[in-house]
Amino acid sequence: SIVVTGATGRLGRHVVDHLLQKVPAEQITAVARTPEKAAGLASRGVRIAVADYDAPQTFEGLFAPGDRVLLISGSEVGKDRVRQHRTVIEAAAAAGVAQLAYTSAPGSLTAALADDHRATEEVLRASGLPWTLLRNGWYHENYTENLGPVLERRAVVAAAGEGRVSSASRADYAAAAAAVLTGEGHENRTFELGGDTAWSFAEYAAELSRVTGEEIVYKAVTPQQLTGILTGAGLPEQAAAVFAGVDASIAKGELEITSGDLSRLIGRPTTPLSDAVAAALKA
Ligand code: NDP
Repeated sequence: SIVVTGATGRLGRHVVDHLLQKVPAEQITAVARTPEKAAGLASRGVRIAVADYDAPQTFEGLFAPGDRVLLISGSEVGKDRVRQHRTVIEAAAAAGVAQLAYTSAPGSLTAALADDHRATEEVLRASGLPWTLLRNGWYHENYTENLGPVLERRAVVAAAGEGRVSSASRADYAAAAAAVLTGEGHENRTFELGGDTAWSFAEYAAELSRVTGEEIVYKAVTPQQLTGILTGAGLPEQAAAVFAGVDASIAKGELEITSGDLSRLIGRPTTPLSDAVAAALKA
């Protein structure tokens, strides 16, 4: 079967949606650590397996030879995510799965956030399994899901300078994952995934101004200033530093992806940022 971990998360739900358009529900296994969150998936005929990256024994016997697996990277800050991912990779290798695809970060990204991804890629390559690296760029939703404070202050505050971001919607990255899990010839390959059009924060502020009819500006700050603003708003120091580090990477162009891999894998242009903005304002 096709096994998706993190299936109850936001990306994972989109992946299962795309898989259901391609294969019968009984061929899909959704791995959930919180079974209650999987009720909707179960009602659509998807098999549910309960397992936690922190509990290796829960992955024993979960995979079968020939399975095609998507390991969606963990989301818990402060956890040893490399150890968590190794747990899944080792269980998959012991079972002899046919493919393990992993949601990584762009190869160009040097921010600290990327360290766990680089280390997981190493573990996966050393596992002997046929691997696929889905190096996902940034989600549109990282920006559009948090429009409240932006509209209130009429300012996009970031430490990204003039840097550009090739973001894409979660649904587009999910479509790419579904394509490599159901298609052929993606083993031992790395895909640098990002939206077709890179945007700057000044352009993002201009788009917000256009659709809201308000004047919304880009307020460029330094990474130190951003860290101060975020901790002032109640974010823990460590998380604030992660955000500031990402913005510093954006300023250096590290989240600008020019490979074209995403639109090639999904067979259509990627969804523009303006669509995500419109959807967020309607919600
Ligand atoms: P979500 O937080 O919505 O989903 C994360 C999923 O991972 C959830 O299903 C969660 O389970 C599962 N998970 C977390 N910890 C464990 C664990 N210990 N054992 C089993 N399952 C676990 O994130 P998204 O779906 O939006 O993004 C997917 C991943 O992509 C993130 O986890 C993160 O690594 C990365 N990411 C990428 C971004 C980008 O812009 N490219 C931005 C943000 C994150 P549960 O449903 O029970 O909570």
